[in-house]
Amino acid sequence: MTSIAFQLEDLQQEIAKTCAKRQIFKHNVRLIAVSKRHSGEKIRQAYQAGQKAFAENFVQEGIEKIQQLSDLDVEWHMIGAIQSRKCKDIAEHFDWVQSVDRLKVAQKLSQARTPERPPLQLCIQVNLFNEQQKAGLEAKAALQLAEQIQALPNVQLRGIMALPPKQTAPQAQKQQFAEIYALYQQLAARYPNIDTCSMGMSGDYQAAIEQGSSMIRVGTTIFGARD
Ligand SMILES: *Cc1c(COP(=O)(O)O)cnc(C)c1O
Repeated sequence: MTSIAFQLEDLQQEIAKTCAKRQIFKHNVRLIAVSKRHSGEKIRQAYQAGQKAFAENFVQEGIEKIQQLSDLDVEWHMIGAIQSRKCKDIAEHFDWVQSVDRLKVAQKLSQARTPERPPLQLCIQVNLFNEQQKAGLEAKAALQLAEQIQALPNVQLRGIMALPPKQTAPQAQKQQFAEIYALYQQLAARYPNIDTCSMGMSGDYQAAIEQGSSMIRVGTTIFGARD
């Protein structure tokens, strides 16, 4: 086994343990492997170890790997900042876009996605803790954007994606994830197609799962440190 296969197996076990602790059905928590700044070869190793969904932050880098790995049946997620002029490329190559934070981007993705293909799966990136340096919408704006995305063709809104600030105090960390989950629940109550609360990364995925995450995005724990 490669070290990537080992790390993935360890991670799966840790996820299962966390789920068991909270009586969460582990199939309700999806693992997305964040492969930014890691090679196509490493992605292939993870794929061969059973990981099928990967996420990239940069459009050009992502597309290169998508083309390089076109023989694999990977589900590709875009999770990085989006420039509207890149929407066409994103809509053509990715399956999910988790970092939608404005109507213009959603509209362009919708226009660029050909109707013959499955709808592009979208999450709204939220920023509930006033972090100026990060993208994402506060709760009210996120609910409004959700309403607008529901009306667009060729895309399907699945939920929200959050990247909350690091907290060393467990109680503060828990509180943040709980707030994100509450917004997710509000959305899920409004629209039947909402099933994704994407939160939790290498440093905090256990806490995120305990507060209701349905999708964790983990890079470093699987692939090691990025250059
Ligand atoms: C890089 C990144 C991750 C993964 O981070 P790790 O700490 O390496 O697990 C998750 N989500 C987003 C949006 C990222 O940019």
